[in-house]
Amino acid sequence: MNTETEHIAAIREGVRDLCSNYSEQYWLELDSSRGYPTEFVSALTEAGYLSALIPEQYGGSGLGLEEACVILEEISYSGGHPGACHAQMYVMGSVLRHGSDLQKEKYLPGVADGSIRLQSFGVTEPNTGTDTTSLKTMAVKKGDKYIVNGQKVWISRVQHSDLMLLLARTTPLDQVEKKTRGLSTFIVDLNEAVKNGLTVNPIDSMINHHSCELFFDNLEIPEENLLGEENNGFRIILDSMNAERILIAAECIGDGRYFVDKAVRYATDRRVFNRPIGQNQGVQFPIARCSINIEAANLMVQKGARLFDQEQRCGAEANMAKLLASEASWNAADMCMEVHGGFAFAREFHIERKFRETRLYRTAPISTNFILGFVAEHVLGLPRSY
Ligand SMILES: Cc1cc2nc3c(=O)[nH]c(=O)nc-3n(C[C@H](O)[C@H](O)[C@H](O)COP(=O)(O)OP(=O)(O)OC[C@H]3O[C@@H](n4cnc5c(N)ncnc54)[C@H](O)[C@@H]3O)c2cc1C
Repeated sequence: MNTETEHIAAIREGVRDLCSNYSEQYWLELDSSRGYPTEFVSALTEAGYLSALIPEQYGGSGLGLEEACVILEEISYSGGHPGACHAQMYVMGSVLRHGSDLQKEKYLPGVADGSIRLQSFGVTEPNTGTDTTSLKTMAVKKGDKYIVNGQKVWISRVQHSDLMLLLARTTPLDQVEKKTRGLSTFIVDLNEAVKNGLTVNPIDSMINHHSCELFFDNLEIPEENLLGEENNGFRIILDSMNAERILIAAECIGDGRYFVDKAVRYATDRRVFNRPIGQNQGVQFPIARCSINIEAANLMVQKGARLFDQEQRCGAEANMAKLLASEASWNAADMCMEVHGGFAFAREFHIERKFRETRLYRTAPISTNFILGFVAEHVLGLPRSY
């Protein structure tokens, strides 16, 4: 059943075509060497896919979130890892919505043509985790600069980015009426910062996501790099979260379809007891169930993306899409491991890498419990649980 418009189908075909030049072996080698997919990201940029959400007036492709979802979904489906560059697509949304005209002119055309990489987002801290409004990193105004001290953790792609959006406290927590006030967002020039008070330490992690620990020791940020209004930075970060959740959910759909396809192929080809293993209901039913759950989750992804593109409220759908799609892809990953038996553990089958990669999305950018908490509180009207 194909309900896609010709326009979306053409984007899907274009991305699929581009991804076919980057084999699973390419991604496996990067995973082993912890390398960055520079050639892939350049090709994606040149084709205009990474600038999908940047308006044409700033040199972008001027597409909607629905199209952007298809782009990330196809990269995942091809066996690739869009996490290496997906944030180049959506972090700029905060600059687009909250930046001054000067900031937009300065940064967006470069982000669109790839000469500026804005794909880092510094929010999480080691001691406060999901309790974002308790974060400890302070930015203190001195003359025409902010002086930043503190620490961040798990900040991805910092070493492959020119700019990072940083969330820091500008008014101490005990001096604000609401915890969500007193935080500000800054555009950090990473090339300058690493020479002047920012230390970046890569984290040896389960997947090739280029995540780092950051230490700020009197880092100076010029006041013109404040994004939006001082003390209103939490709002700015929140504003870009719906797009991020819907896009990540689309990646999960691509992963889920990847696992189902792999499982179907293997279950058809692999013969044990003189028949294809896929002839056994114990093997084929889990594949069918995963496929059903992925396609159902995809409907919520599409709903969220359409609402976003129509500038309607989509917080509930964005969260639901992220939960449904990340659970569907994780279950499909586990099913795919099961169908492949012992061979699933051989790296050359690629499944264990995708299994590790798709697991991230149950935890980041927000863990499942907090999505349940959002729906319980904001959709169902239950008391706030945290
Ligand atoms: C590979 C990777 C890349 C990342 N990239 C970035 C990035 O680029 N930028 C960035 O800012 N962050 C990034 N993160 C951080 C990520 O967003 C956080 O890890 C995630 O939001 C969870 O925060 P935490 O790890 O501090 O968990 P915690 O907040 O410590 O929570 C731990 C567990 O306890 C549960 N929990 C805690 N409190 C409650 C409660 N009240 N009710 C119910 N359950 C609760 C959580 O759901 C979770 O399962 C990345 C993380 C990873 C692993």
